[in-house]
Amino acid sequence: MTRYDAVIIGAGAAGMMCALTAGYRGKRVLVLDHANKAGKKILMSGGGRCNFTNLDTKPGNFFSNNPHFCISALKRYSPHDFVDMVERHGIEHVEKAPGQLFCADSSKSIVQMLLTECEWAGVELRLGTSINAIEDDCDGMMLDTSIGRISAVKVVIATGGLSIPTLGASGFGYDVARQFGLDILPTRAALVPFTLTSEWKERLSPLAGISVPVTVACRNGFYREPLLITHRGLSGPAMLQISSYWLPGDSITIDWLPGVRIAERLAFERNNTPKRQLSSWLNDYIPKRLTQAVCQWFEIEGTLAQCSNSALEELEEKLNRFTIKPAGTEGWRTAEVTMGGVNTQAISSKTFAVNEKPALHFIGEVLDVTGELGGYNFQWAWASGVACGQAL
Ligand SMILES: Cc1cc2nc3c(=O)[nH]c(=O)nc-3n(C[C@H](O)[C@H](O)[C@H](O)COP(=O)(O)OP(=O)(O)OC[C@H]3O[C@@H](n4cnc5c(N)ncnc54)[C@H](O)[C@@H]3O)c2cc1C
Repeated sequence: MTRYDAVIIGAGAAGMMCALTAGYRGKRVLVLDHANKAGKKILMSGGGRCNFTNLDTKPGNFFSNNPHFCISALKRYSPHDFVDMVERHGIEHVEKAPGQLFCADSSKSIVQMLLTECEWAGVELRLGTSINAIEDDCDGMMLDTSIGRISAVKVVIATGGLSIPTLGASGFGYDVARQFGLDILPTRAALVPFTLTSEWKERLSPLAGISVPVTVACRNGFYREPLLITHRGLSGPAMLQISSYWLPGDSITIDWLPGVRIAERLAFERNNTPKRQLSSWLNDYIPKRLTQAVCQWFEIEGTLAQCSNSALEELEEKLNRFTIKPAGTEGWRTAEVTMGGVNTQAISSKTFAVNEKPALHFIGEVLDVTGELGGYNFQWAWASGVACGQAL
């Protein structure tokens, strides 16, 4: 039976990064994945262009019950380290929003780069392989797989979270964690679009396709990003970001005119252009179809001169502090990430080994570390993969 220094389960972002790091250190490494292709989420990410890092990555961009856990790995492998690799492979990239780096062409080049590096590092990769059991062995671990029994000094769980089962996601990592007595913090879909009650769906679905810059707030979360109205509900970066704070039953506050204090601004405009229609003023800020709909929902009509001060205050309440209670989210089917996961209290932030079981490691999204939208989740996958790969 072949014995490996490390068997990594999951040929995703974290798993491949870990494998190539350990491979270059001379370790005999095998990567197993049940999917028929490596890096399926990378391929789908960033609209096919993979937002592969964020130059401004800070621990504050991550949610975790143990906020200090991510610091060490993020410090040891920076966004610039990953950019260096991308540039060595001649992959062109663009900064679409401040700090957010995407492939100029296609996310395929990132997967190809990782596969090439794994090959150069001597890593063996077996796709379409299922793992039936992992057990303790006298000086390591034993895996029972669809390609036979495999012995390993170390096993790394890099099976990611639960989002998008059609891309290979499974609860495997959590099952292994439970098997070895680790605690799993409640998981929920995040960076996910919202669904609406039938009343709001009826009002908003005719406006599908409209994208507007807004500010959104829920609990402690606050973002200024575009909101996209879809046939199913509310999406776009603003809603994806705030979904990480939202819990069922919560309302979300949307400011449709961010930076414009409506009562104050309209009181001023009322003196200058008293005959102007309110709807025409509103149309300076939001698209016409949305203006028409908003005017209908809130019975906004007449000229500026016809608005009393209290009417202006009321309008400010409705548009600067619009609240909506989503029916839910689109769930695992479209979520980009999983909040929660393996409790990091039992894991070393240096080696990613389980403190009580040094032969077993967890990296990437399976852990209770979740980034905001904008390239942070991949940076976590790369950084945790490298830190673990250096310790195998
Ligand atoms: C549509 C979409 C777009 C995204 N866009 C971005 C983006 O632009 N920027 C960003 O930073 N993040 C993005 N993300 C998030 C990012 O993809 C993940 O955070 C990241 O891939 C996590 O890396 P990972 O290696 O931990 O897990 P994954 O990349 O999910 O890899 C896990 C691997 O484990 C395998 N696996 C699972 N279960 C088993 C099993 N039972 N047996 C064997 N193998 C198994 C899977 O097949 C998979 O290959 C996006 C996510 C999605 C879904």
